[in-house]
Amino acid sequence: MLDTLNRHLMHPLMAWREGSTHLRHLRTLRKTQFDAPEVVRERQLHALQSQLRHAWDTVPYYRDAWTKAGVHPSDVRELSDLEAFPIVTKADIRRHNRALVSSAYDITKCRVKTTSGSTGVPLTIYCDEAAMQWKTACTIRSDEWSGYRLGQRVAKVWGNPEYQHFGLKGRLRNRFFDRAVYLDTLDLNEARIAEFTKRIRAHRPGLIFGHAHSLYLLACALKKKTLADAAGLLDIRPNGIISTAMILHDWQRTVIEEVFGCKVTNRYGCEEVSLIASECEAHNGLHVNADSIYHEAQADGKLLVTDLSNRAMPLVRYQVGDVVVRSNRVCKCGRGLPLIERVEGRDADYVLTPAGNLVSGISLTENFAVLIPGTAQVQIVQESITQLRIRLVADAAFGPASRTKIAELVRATFGDTVTHDVELVDAIPQEPSGKYRFCISKVARERMEAMSV
Ligand SMILES: [Zn+2]
Repeated sequence: MLDTLNRHLMHPLMAWREGSTHLRHLRTLRKTQFDAPEVVRERQLHALQSQLRHAWDTVPYYRDAWTKAGVHPSDVRELSDLEAFPIVTKADIRRHNRALVSSAYDITKCRVKTTSGSTGVPLTIYCDEAAMQWKTACTIRSDEWSGYRLGQRVAKVWGNPEYQHFGLKGRLRNRFFDRAVYLDTLDLNEARIAEFTKRIRAHRPGLIFGHAHSLYLLACALKKKTLADAAGLLDIRPNGIISTAMILHDWQRTVIEEVFGCKVTNRYGCEEVSLIASECEAHNGLHVNADSIYHEAQADGKLLVTDLSNRAMPLVRYQVGDVVVRSNRVCKCGRGLPLIERVEGRDADYVLTPAGNLVSGISLTENFAVLIPGTAQVQIVQESITQLRIRLVADAAFGPASRTKIAELVRATFGDTVTHDVELVDAIPQEPSGKYRFCISKVARERMEAMSV
């Protein structure tokens, strides 16, 4: 009843009050997803040409880089013509940040996204409001492939609940609009998991959403509790489960699906461009979000994305830092959106505090990368329960204040008994698979196994 009310009344009402257009977009996107692949590609070509012209006209960085490379937007007559254009790396974005912003936009009116992105490299991205609305609609469309319906309550297994940053307005919005229940993965213990379980039992979310390893940990805790209670089958039955932002291993998927009696939908995206690809009901490969991005894979599988909707800071041939396996298959679901087979993306362990709590590595690295001045990239290695190694690629802004901040963050997260050393390195290499591990723990596994069996 409440879900229906929220879907048909509260959500549209809030959207209208805030001048949002995402619901209108969503209605369009629900239809166009079944267009034939050629139609989708044709639409992408038009969007790409328009974005390139806009970037040429208003973004100093591209005018300069493309002139040097001897290319021009009018060269692009088909999608593959984009291959002649230069690639944009994370280092380029850090170095030329404001030069990538369109002169047609006032960044004080844009959404600012500060993120460690996918690989522990902190970046600032500006996104215009119209693009945010479009991206929100694209994301809701793919959320619905999981079985979730707009308006249902969502449980998020996530570090740093977003709504807390927006004070009373944020809390009210969350209470009546987003209706999310959070499990904060920055400080996890059995009591918190038990409390969260109680809340999701009471609130019956339509969707459980989180990082693969956090969903897995939650499933393990529930499985153990069920066995201990001899309660038989669990009664938490969401319509959908979405795993995002990192690699979902098959062994994790199996346990999560068994515990919740629901398929896991693997989703892939990054703060810089939002949703990149998501599984549909077929759970065989991921559909690219072709309405908002154009994707390419280089010969070694490195993914490049061109943002087709963000005009404030257009990203053209942006190297995300992940490796994908291409696909030419057509999905049996009937959607014309292109597929990628899988993402060899990011992996991060949980780390263990001396107090016995678990800290999500993905949330931890995000915090460190964004908060330590002069960090170009960071990797955290937990050598032992009392010793951390912070591997850091520093830029010119790194100095004594950065070291003080590191000490402060370590103390705040782990307490006084954990020591750390800072190892300044030139680069943090990817593993041969293309996978990037930004948090490695040599001690947490044992603890996780104890929690899960
Ligand atoms: Zn499909």
